Parts: sequence; C-alpha cells; structure tokens
Amino acid sequence: MLTKAIEIFEGVALRTNPELAVRLLGALPASAITAMQEARFKRTLRLAAARSPFYREQFRQRGIDVRRITRPSQLGDFYTTGEDLCTFGAEQFLTGRADTAFETTGTSSPAPKTVFFSRDEVATMGRITAIWLYLLGLRPEDRVLSAFDCSFWVSPWVLRSGLEYLKCFHVEAGKIDPDDFYERAKSYQPTVIFGEPSWIIRLSEVARHRGVWPLKFLFAGGENIAESSRSMVESVWGAPIYLNYGQTESFGALGAECRMKDGYHRNDLYFFFELDNVDDGYGEVIYTTLARDVMPLIRYRSTDVARLVEEPCDCGVFAGRIGKIRGRCDEMVVCGMGNVGPWVFAEILRGVEGVEDEWQVVVKQEKRQDILELRLETTNGTTQADLQGAILVNLRDRFSDFWKNYEMRLYDLRIIPCASGSLRNGRKLQRVVDQREMLTK
Ligand SMILES: [Zn+2]
Repeated sequence: MLTKAIEIFEGVALRTNPELAVRLLGALPASAITAMQEARFKRTLRLAAARSPFYREQFRQRGIDVRRITRPSQLGDFYTTGEDLCTFGAEQFLTGRADTAFETTGTSSPAPKTVFFSRDEVATMGRITAIWLYLLGLRPEDRVLSAFDCSFWVSPWVLRSGLEYLKCFHVEAGKIDPDDFYERAKSYQPTVIFGEPSWIIRLSEVARHRGVWPLKFLFAGGENIAESSRSMVESVWGAPIYLNYGQTESFGALGAECRMKDGYHRNDLYFFFELDNVDDGYGEVIYTTLARDVMPLIRYRSTDVARLVEEPCDCGVFAGRIGKIRGRCDEMVVCGMGNVGPWVFAEILRGVEGVEDEWQVVVKQEKRQDILELRLETTNGTTQADLQGAILVNLRDRFSDFWKNYEMRLYDLRIIPCASGSLRNGRKLQRVVDQREMLTK
C-alpha cells in the first residue's frame, strides 16, 4: 500500500517538468526508495520466474523459491551473464511482447547479444534521460546534433527518447567522419553535441584547427575517456564534456555524470546495484532491472569494475554514484576501434601467413589516440610489411565497423613481429592488455 503510494508519487514527479521532478524525487526519503526497490524487485523476480523459460529453469534447478526472496543477495551465487544471453538466446528471457531490439557485441564470441524492449519501457527511460539532460543545462531552445552509430545500437534511441520530452531541435548525423561532420554541423550551429568519446576527441582536433562555435556542453557515451583527453576537448570548445555510463542491456542509462564529473549518479529507481568480488572497495558492478516487463535481467554481470559511492555529491543531487570505471574483468576492451575482445583479433589473424598461435594485443594511448599493438610471434623471416597488408585486408573484409573507425583514425593499428616463444611468461597468455590510464582518482 505504502509502495503503491510512493509509485504514484514517482509517476506524478516524472511527468512534471524536469526541474520540479528532480526536487520532488529528491524529497523522497531514502527509506521510501529502498521500500520501492524491494517491491519492484519482488515483482520483477516473480515475473521472470513465471514467464521467462531461462529463469524458470534456473530457479527450478537451484531450488530457489522466489516467493521467499526479498533482496537480490538472497539469491546467493546466482547471476545472469552476457554468455547466458548468447548461449540461451534472448527469447528465453522474454516475459512479454517486445516492440524493439538492440544488439551489442559478445565478449568471447562473434555472436551479438540481443536485448528486447517495449515502447513503454523506452518512454519511461526517456523521462529519466530528459530529467538528467535538463539538469546538465539542456533546454528546449538548444540545438542538438548527435553522431552515435545508428546500426543496431541503443544510444541514438536513448537520446531520442529523452528529447521527446525536452522538445529541442535535433539532427542525427550518424557516426560519420569527424571532418565531414564538422563541415556539415556548422550550418546548424549546434549548442550540444553527442557522440562516442574517441570520435569527439577527433572532432575536437578538427575544431581546434578550423575554429569553434559556442557550445553549451558535449555528452559522450559508449566508452571511457582519459582525463587528459577530457581536458583537451574542454579547452578547445570552452565547454564541459559529460559522460554517460550504461549498457545496451540496461537501455543506456545506468548512471550519468553531473557537473562535478566525479562518478556517475545512479538510477536507483529502475536498477538495484550490487558489487561482486570486492577488493579494496572495487568490484564488478552487478545490476537487476526493476522496471522492465519484456526482458528483465536478474543480477546481471556488467563486467565493469568500479565502486559504489554513497557519500553525498557536491552537486546536491540525492542519487548515489557509481565511481569511475576502473576496468573490465574480462578481456574485452572498449576503445576507438570499438568493443573488441580476443575473438576479434583471432578472426583478423585467421589465414595470415607467418603468424604462429601466440599473439597479444596491447592497447595504449598516444596523443589522445588509442593505439592497438598487435604483437605476433612469427615464423622465421616474416616481416612487418608482409603481415601489415594481409591483416588490413582481413580487417576491411571481416569487420566493416572496425574498418570504418580505422579510416576515421579513431585508433591506429601497429604490427610488431616477435620472436617465437617470447610472449608467454606464465601459464596463461593474456590476449588483450589495456594499458591506458583512465582513472585519475
Ligand atoms: Zn553530483
């Protein structure tokens, strides 16, 4: 009964104007949010157990009676992984009729993960997105240009769903070459630009040479940004760049930066966050969806490592935070090339003559560009030049998106032949090593 009253209050708050919504939601005591999370969690769990073949079977096998569970931690060592989505197929998770789907790259295999949503869910997340963008300063008179990749990717939709409420002028460029974008954007005089961090860095380099126009802010999502690159972008435009933290599985908004840019304010209304394998306060971010009817996810492993921050933020917003992302706990790397894991490089190297089974990819950053060093053990006499041509042809023919980003110079690929037996110095060779330093505090 109390929870119902809180939900009605929340519903009214979300439908008012964004400024009032933040004040109303901020007035909810922490105990009310906890009570609502618990009620929504129980509802989500019962829905999953009743309608999703995957969850029904998993709970049956483990002897979990969902009627007795009130908090995610009571599920013990049960988690949902990206591998589960790939192995069982997204249809096994469905609990209702889907209206749309998005895809995201698999961690250890080329099979994309599919995530289904309803229009109602998209609209609900749009309200939260709108409130957040309003807090950052976006107003109906602003002119938005976005350059998110539109191919099966959730980000352009997340943005559009938010702008439905804010009603500003919006042009979708798609992820085109930053040179081309710069020339075409000028005539619209956008005040706010959305894109991926590595793309925005390249756009800012173009703008530094050719001139800027007044911007209110830039907003990036899809990957991390080094603080030195953030400073460069901000000094070129004389405007802040804010980051979003989200995944396709969550329809974008797990959290977003505020003006303080010190971690991402969490969306605790629609997600329950936990950490697993905690070491020194940092652990893998786990989330349970609380407001999804079509494809709920119970204790989903994000594979991102961060901490949960409960201390109040200087910006005054009530929501707790996810600290800056420290890294990933699998070998997947999100960089200017895209979301890449070992299988991507295995596929690029397939059929290249002179390469042995041992290879390693090291991701670095030089002059704000991601550099991917392919260190390859080679058979005698194979030169860098021999390898380069074949590898680039495979990249172009087998991964059109990664090739596009190569042509846009969002990253560089360096081929480094190594002596046979030189790479492995332990039992397991780590295939992808991320040496970029993103975290400054
Ligand atoms: Zn804040």
